[in-house]
Amino acid sequence: MSENVTTLINESPCAQPGGGGPLTYDFDRSEFWRSIPLWRDVDSKTFGDFRWQQRNSVTSIPGIKEALCELASSALISDIEAGLLKTPMNIRLTPYIFSRIHWENFENDPIRRQFLPLGSQFVPDHPQVMDDSLAEDVDKATPHLTHRYPDKALFLPITLCPVYCSFCTRSRVVGGSTAVKSKSAYGAKSKEWDSTFEYIRNHPDLEDIVISGGDALLLRPDQIRQIGRNLLQIPTVRRIRFATKGLAIMPMKFTSDNEWVKALDDVCRLGREKMKEVALHTHFNTDREISSWTSEAMKVLSDTGVRVRNQSVLISGVNDAFDCLHYTTKKLSSLLIQPYYLYLHDMVPGCDHLRTTVREAEYLSNRLQGAIAGFNTPRVVCDAPGGGGKREISSYTLYDQEIGVSAWTSPTAKPNEIFYYYDPINKLPEDGRVIWSKHGEIKRRLAKFKSDAESKAEATRT
Ligand code: SF4
Repeated sequence: MSENVTTLINESPCAQPGGGGPLTYDFDRSEFWRSIPLWRDVDSKTFGDFRWQQRNSVTSIPGIKEALCELASSALISDIEAGLLKTPMNIRLTPYIFSRIHWENFENDPIRRQFLPLGSQFVPDHPQVMDDSLAEDVDKATPHLTHRYPDKALFLPITLCPVYCSFCTRSRVVGGSTAVKSKSAYGAKSKEWDSTFEYIRNHPDLEDIVISGGDALLLRPDQIRQIGRNLLQIPTVRRIRFATKGLAIMPMKFTSDNEWVKALDDVCRLGREKMKEVALHTHFNTDREISSWTSEAMKVLSDTGVRVRNQSVLISGVNDAFDCLHYTTKKLSSLLIQPYYLYLHDMVPGCDHLRTTVREAEYLSNRLQGAIAGFNTPRVVCDAPGGGGKREISSYTLYDQEIGVSAWTSPTAKPNEIFYYYDPINKLPEDGRVIWSKHGEIKRRLAKFKSDAESKAEATRT
């Protein structure tokens, strides 16, 4: 085991209780938001109202200063200002997630790290990062539908989210323009969705439809019904899933927005009548995002019968340690949230300080297997850049750890193509970093690697 990996294991940012023995699952019942000066006098009823959460979301530097008052040191503010000049994502945090940050340790806090960029923590982008790393736009069948796999499609009806994550894979379209990225916003235009329903109707191979964005949490109740009914009425569609980070960043949506929950409940009922699955896919990265508000939300969702699964991203300094992943996975499972995927961070701009290497992901995958019941063990995957789709983390064709490049094939989605993932240069061994600094040397090394990968892939095909 390398020293680097050992360090990561010992420095878990999670709040897992130590000491061995059976794990206990504590769900924070304290009024933790009162540690934020602006919300010192906010009572539980107000804090638990989704409208209040939306109205009081923190979206700017003045908003951060106003919320933190004396806790907002000039060093913190100038570091965030410097970060905003480098990131493709704007600031948006709900009061819930803002107050889950331990501000006394903001530099290393795993929640702050996901939502608020610090200029001092950025590293230069890898030369191979791409705006549309997963080539979703290339596989577009309608303006709002990506169709890559034979039986599954990705419906993107909205570009808005209740929070903006620094690591977002759709930073090219989600969350408004920033100093380094201009975007055209379209929100959620339900009149434009008919061509998507029509396309799905005309492609009977499509059984699974993912409804993502943006975030399905910001779809209106009538839009949830419109999408749910239209899709479930198509005889060949068997399963639909709404993707939302809501449970992790605004769980009170599910306990206080009765209309929205009723719409989801109606869609679930229709699904049961038709023997079709309706699922909600959410996105927790650490156990710090889980509190008693989450367990209350899950009680409400359990009543609807919706199946809830979790898709995480492996993020450096957030959850790239075995004990953190293990505890978060177990804690989610205890709430009937099934851990589903753990993604290697996509190769998108402004994120190299957050990415990990394939080697680290592979190590963590090996540790997780056997530590948790199989059906609650997340599949650790690389979403192969360029549109190869999700590949098991150990299924690469070839991997050169020194220069951090791995080759992947995708025989079903894109036969005859090879996809390359590049580890962040700052995580490579010294020799690898030196090679990347020499243009001619890295060019030769990559050419040799790609030639070897092609030979190996060809041998596997025949
Ligand atoms: S909630 Fe999802 S789509 Fe929205 S910013 Fe975060 S990662 Fe991106």
